[in-house]
Amino acid sequence: MHGSRMLIWVTQMASDVKLAEVVRSFEKDMVKALGDMISIPSISPESGGEGEYDRAEFLVSLLRENGITAIERCDAPDRKAKKGRRPNIIATVGSGRSSLWVISHMDTVPVGDRTLWKTDPFSAAVKNGKIYGRGSEDNGQSLIASLFAAKAAMQLGVSSSVKLAFVSDEELGSAKGITYVASKGKFAKGDEFLVPDAGSSKGDEIEIAEKHSLWARVKTEGRQTHASMPTTGVNAKVAASRFLVFARDYLYSRYSARDDLFQPVPYSTFEPTRQMSNVENVNTIPGTDEFYIDSRILPSYNLGRILSDMREIADVFSRQTGARIKVEVFRKSTAASPTSKDSVIATKTAEAVRRVLGIEPRFVGIGGGTCANIVRARGFQAAVWSTEDGMAHQPNEYSVIRNMVSDAGVMTSMFVS
Ligand SMILES: [Zn+2]
Repeated sequence: MHGSRMLIWVTQMASDVKLAEVVRSFEKDMVKALGDMISIPSISPESGGEGEYDRAEFLVSLLRENGITAIERCDAPDRKAKKGRRPNIIATVGSGRSSLWVISHMDTVPVGDRTLWKTDPFSAAVKNGKIYGRGSEDNGQSLIASLFAAKAAMQLGVSSSVKLAFVSDEELGSAKGITYVASKGKFAKGDEFLVPDAGSSKGDEIEIAEKHSLWARVKTEGRQTHASMPTTGVNAKVAASRFLVFARDYLYSRYSARDDLFQPVPYSTFEPTRQMSNVENVNTIPGTDEFYIDSRILPSYNLGRILSDMREIADVFSRQTGARIKVEVFRKSTAASPTSKDSVIATKTAEAVRRVLGIEPRFVGIGGGTCANIVRARGFQAAVWSTEDGMAHQPNEYSVIRNMVSDAGVMTSMFVS
């Protein structure tokens, strides 16, 4: 090896060892911080909670205790929430014209069926290297990891401006969370974003693209009648079923493009899902029918066109059957343009994963939606990455302590490089 390259390599090795040492020294504090945070419920008012206020107050103190004092609040008003607001925290370390943001969310989904939990979801249980509790993995693990990564970076030397955003309202669409923060002009040209809110259990997947999602409600109105005299009514179930089968086949064949970035489903999907109940008895022809279609659509397609195709098909089958079939948007999210594999944030994340975890990451697209979609839609580059077992929204949700610590290492490496 050439002398100067040897020197660079040795220096790099030494700094990697130092980084790992510093981050590992925080392990106990990280476990305690995540445990304390789990004991403060942070469920949105729409899901029956008080919102994120108490958890935000705790996090502000935690930041201060750890020497991170440049803290800004960007709370969104919400009369239904505690203190009338949905808190958003922006904590800055280092300085520079543009910033590397790490966005994690404070809110959690509700407990779900309480009887399925083996421990109290709001009291952290530490067992076999895991921390159990609601919100432990989604998104507590990453939030705490980012906080201690910022602390580590301050000790090792932050390279430029790093902004930690702890946001509200992610689980229900982010209007009072990251969307609100963006609307207040907090992002600057050249800013880049890491969203540690999805990933694989090895930490080897960096998400750079998301699909559109369209949840459509299909309501059919026919005319109820006795099952022995079908001609005196219009069977809504039959009309809806005809529409369903044709629409599904049509959409799959018309929008059949493949994009291998998206795994394991490299194409768009159009699946009838929830079916509402209709009549209670066997011998009545139902006069109404209601079901849902969950579509996940490649970003290259236009969501509006797909919706109007669905409506056109509904019209055709309405005329054919004599029923009235209506397609309504129940929920939709438009996918922003994907972030390039060659973007600064994608390259930087991959490099840190290689260095700290010693593995080769791959770039992927996913069917779900994260805060990354919201910043991408505003023209920024964002990578979604973390190491997780996929326990989000499940009973007995846990965070693997080793993942929290090593993810903090990866983030630290991004902050100091
Ligand atoms: Zn999440």
